[in-house]
Amino acid sequence: MKPAAFDYAVPRTVPEAVETLGSGRRAQVLAGGQSLLLEMHLERIRPDLVVDINRIPELDDMRVIDNTLQVGALIRHRVFESAQAVPGPLGSLFSLAVVNIAHPPIRSRGTMVGSFGWGHPASEWCAIAMALDADIQLRGPQGARTVAARDYFHGPLRTDRRPGELITSVRWPLLAGHTGVGFIEHRRTHFCFAQVAVAAVLTVHDGVISGARIGLVNCADRPLRAHAAEQALTGVEIGPRTDGYRLPEDHPFARAGRIAAQQDADPIAEPYADLEYRRHAIAVVTARTLCQAANDHRSRVGEPEGDGQ
Ligand SMILES: Cc1cc2nc3c(=O)[nH]c(=O)nc-3n(C[C@H](O)[C@H](O)[C@H](O)COP(=O)(O)OP(=O)(O)OC[C@H]3O[C@@H](n4cnc5c(N)ncnc54)[C@H](O)[C@@H]3O)c2cc1C
Repeated sequence: MKPAAFDYAVPRTVPEAVETLGSGRRAQVLAGGQSLLLEMHLERIRPDLVVDINRIPELDDMRVIDNTLQVGALIRHRVFESAQAVPGPLGSLFSLAVVNIAHPPIRSRGTMVGSFGWGHPASEWCAIAMALDADIQLRGPQGARTVAARDYFHGPLRTDRRPGELITSVRWPLLAGHTGVGFIEHRRTHFCFAQVAVAAVLTVHDGVISGARIGLVNCADRPLRAHAAEQALTGVEIGPRTDGYRLPEDHPFARAGRIAAQQDADPIAEPYADLEYRRHAIAVVTARTLCQAANDHRSRVGEPEGDGQ
């Protein structure tokens, strides 16, 4: 199918983009186009104006400011495939997550910030933003504002972004050197969106968890943070190294997985996954991701790898 007719604008500055966006009744920003163009071809979105932001140099910028990583609206997914692109454990977390986003050509065009424009419950970036308390920076006709990730997602493809607003960047707190990170995704086929994916970040002192952050991908109608599971982990010993397979039922990570599935998640049944299956998958993937994060912490503090059991 071909998209319905639309006007096309190519602003060169952010103020020009904001002014242009305000002039269309149903204007859409074009960043990587990997979600927008498909929706336009299917005529599920029919903009009267497409504002292409790809010629705005100030949006093609990523920098660290005061222990915060600021990712501009034109930074493509593929940049994060290298763990060295971003300092410390945050770079490792991003590199574990990004390879789950579609495939290389899509990651070469699609942008991290575009995922926040789209607001899909299965977006890896959006769930990590929930876990890490990232914030979203917007510029619109009324000026600039910042919205915390926890206030930003309102429902499937519904966000706090107002008509005429451009997301200029997303800001991420950098993670301390010994933080352990994990990201595991479960999907039907490689090119499907996640059935469930989990991001885990553990702060550990002397083998005891002092802080846990868990983001859940596609476990509700929006990206989620698993607060109940996180609380259950505070003060818990990470115990011996394990790959997370064959975990005893009373292992703290298995327990946290069940809490995430039963108390934090609010999954929706899908054709290939009923609610029972989805909750089971959330519990299992959460437990394994916590094991991965604990192992990552061990590697960062120089503990030998062991046999992985
Ligand atoms: C086959 C396939 C598989 C995919 N699998 C995954 C996956 O597993 N996980 C995943 O997260 N994504 C997946 N995607 C989506 C892909 O990652 C997109 O790149 C991403 O969702 C949006 O980024 P984009 O830059 O392409 O945005 P675009 O397609 O250009 O825009 C998407 C929406 O966001 C708005 N928007 C974009 N940028 C801004 C901005 N700066 N300010 C305001 N609004 C903005 C647009 O107006 C539009 O409504 C997949 C896409 C395809 C085609």
